[in-house]
Amino acid sequence: MTRIKKESSITSMAAGMLPAAVVKSGETVVFETMDAFGGQIKTADNVFSQIGWDQVNPAAGPLFVEGAEPGDCLKVEILEITPGDKAVMILAPGFGVMDMPREVSYIFDIKDGQFIFDDKIKLKVNPMIGVIGTAPAGEPVPTGTPGPHGGNMDTNRITTGSVVYLPVNVPGALLSLGDLHAVMGDGEVCVCGAEISGEAVVKVTVLKSFNAPLPLLIAGGEVITVSSAPLLDDAAKTAVKNMHEFLVHLGLDKEKAAMLLSLSGNLRISQVVDPLMTARMEFPLWILEEYGIRL
Ligand code: CA
Repeated sequence: MTRIKKESSITSMAAGMLPAAVVKSGETVVFETMDAFGGQIKTADNVFSQIGWDQVNPAAGPLFVEGAEPGDCLKVEILEITPGDKAVMILAPGFGVMDMPREVSYIFDIKDGQFIFDDKIKLKVNPMIGVIGTAPAGEPVPTGTPGPHGGNMDTNRITTGSVVYLPVNVPGALLSLGDLHAVMGDGEVCVCGAEISGEAVVKVTVLKSFNAPLPLLIAGGEVITVSSAPLLDDAAKTAVKNMHEFLVHLGLDKEKAAMLLSLSGNLRISQVVDPLMTARMEFPLWILEEYGIRL
């Protein structure tokens, strides 16, 4: 199985980068990933300002997938995520939603599938991928920023068993991923999740005629549109409109689709702490199946 070492990490996604590996469509690949701070925060004294935003969220890659051409879609099935045994969280003035008086880092143990917060609180580990994206066609995008190419979406639905559909903007797609979190709630409100190094095993498949708003997820019995924008209002409305257009494209009546989205869809906040805000619209697959539609 092809393995991309964490030493093959990038801090921006860009066309024309030298691939870390080349695979055929349908192959399975292991990505070894550093934590969001590039492994630089090892003690409470190593603080975020020593790193800077352009160094955060390194992603392993890029992976060149043979046959992927601009206009195609890259289907990424997340088969397994293995977290490391330490997690890092940081707090800093000016970061996150809440005002924090000092810059500080915390290191936590991960043991037996649990994140040990303190002597009272243990949280079940639900590892997710914060950064997963393809190279954009135009200007390079830092791996700390989300966008139409995917990137730092910090969406906790991108986990084991999920499928991520990304646009192919350049030959080979140039997929990169990293920034694993052991635990993270919606919003990522203090500026980070339980940031971990680890490994992700994914299967990559080139789709030549997948007409959908990208990035798109299938996770836990739901189809999910993801949108990022400078303002959360715009990200949220775009996620809803993209899902509505997609449902109509799949064959649902325009008015029924709008009502069903209001009845059974959930508009949620993925994160509000990155250079762009990310929202998502979730819709149950079983409703599509009742109409004879299978994704
Ligand atoms: Ca992140």
